[in-house]
Amino acid sequence: MPGFELFGAEEKKEVQDVLDNGVLMRYGFDSMRNGHHKALELEKDLAKKMQTQYAQVVSSGTAALTVALACAEIGSGDEVIMPTFTFVASFEAILSVGAVPVLCDIDDTLTLDPKAVEAAITPKTKAIMPVHMCGSMADLSALKAISEEHNLILLEDACQAIGGTYNGKPLGSYGDLGCFSFDYVKMVTCGEGGGLITNSKIYADRAHKYQDHGHDHVGNDRGAETHPFLGYNYRLSELNAAVGIAQLRKLDHILEVQEKNYTILRDALTSIPEVTFRRVPETGVESYAFLSIFLPNEDLARKTHKALGANNVDACFYWFDNNWHYYKKWEHLLEQKSLGKFSNEIQLGLQKNKRSFDPSDVWMGRTISCLIKLNWTEAEVKERASKMVSAIKSVL
Ligand SMILES: *Cc1c(COP(=O)(O)O)cnc(C)c1O
Repeated sequence: MPGFELFGAEEKKEVQDVLDNGVLMRYGFDSMRNGHHKALELEKDLAKKMQTQYAQVVSSGTAALTVALACAEIGSGDEVIMPTFTFVASFEAILSVGAVPVLCDIDDTLTLDPKAVEAAITPKTKAIMPVHMCGSMADLSALKAISEEHNLILLEDACQAIGGTYNGKPLGSYGDLGCFSFDYVKMVTCGEGGGLITNSKIYADRAHKYQDHGHDHVGNDRGAETHPFLGYNYRLSELNAAVGIAQLRKLDHILEVQEKNYTILRDALTSIPEVTFRRVPETGVESYAFLSIFLPNEDLARKTHKALGANNVDACFYWFDNNWHYYKKWEHLLEQKSLGKFSNEIQLGLQKNKRSFDPSDVWMGRTISCLIKLNWTEAEVKERASKMVSAIKSVL
């Protein structure tokens, strides 16, 4: 998965362009920049690649989610439904706009269970935020039907699944808004960075303003620009954008390598009847960033995870015990350990999340996900496959 495995002359050239003219900021300084507008170029490339009309790059995936929520006018006391299995950025972004993250069960797709989503809807719900974890996607047609019925925003977090598709559409482009992370460990990296995509002119117009202090970007005198509404600074620097341009051009190659490596591992594990695979919704095509498997129960999953480590099969994750990705360890959220005081709405709203999520626990307890790397040789992948098979068989 990490795009940094493929850093080369292409990234260096793009960064050198920026250093040669010395303009590290995306706005202004037109006479100095020799025609280089890296953030703008990355936006054009991203929109084209994701087949959307608009793209906005920002300083992180978390910022992309925050800007997307702000563009959808989500604010104080509004509820946003998010999964129990995701990265902490999901609730951080929701809280940062004053809204309440409402945790919701996942199913065997390892993403939002549409039935649980329906049950979580209240008069305060404003958005559903599916997170396409580990390279595969949520059941987007079911979630779209629910959001249309209840007049909710569908915001896709595709930070871990860039390049995957659903019903022939790139992940992130199916909902009202879609977000990507270009942080250092993602498939496409800028070092730090993120992007949002949309087909809505209204959202796109809000996004470029919001991520730059509300500047309207009219004319070429920054100091004279007006600010139709309040914004913030989530801008991406030209240096980061430059890396992203070279990386995004490598996306098709990355997807090809991941699919090849994933398939070798999956084919080998298919020989073990006790091992089953994460369900990919119909019409979905994974990015193949991870291979996620189910063991028959939690005990065997824990033992398998240990055995994989003992057999030097690295980069396999047992998310159930993970501090960052599963609600059980989000004590700081559940106990409301914020530096400053939360609003009354958030204090009250967060109480809802202090409950058990048994269906999530059943699936997560059985899940192991293995990262798919880009620099493995075919011989290395095959050796890894046979190590995985023997490690798993040793505990069954
Ligand atoms: C990485 C990630 C983010 C946040 O991205 P940053 O760029 O690190 O802020 C959000 N959601 C998911 C699912 C992620 O994996």
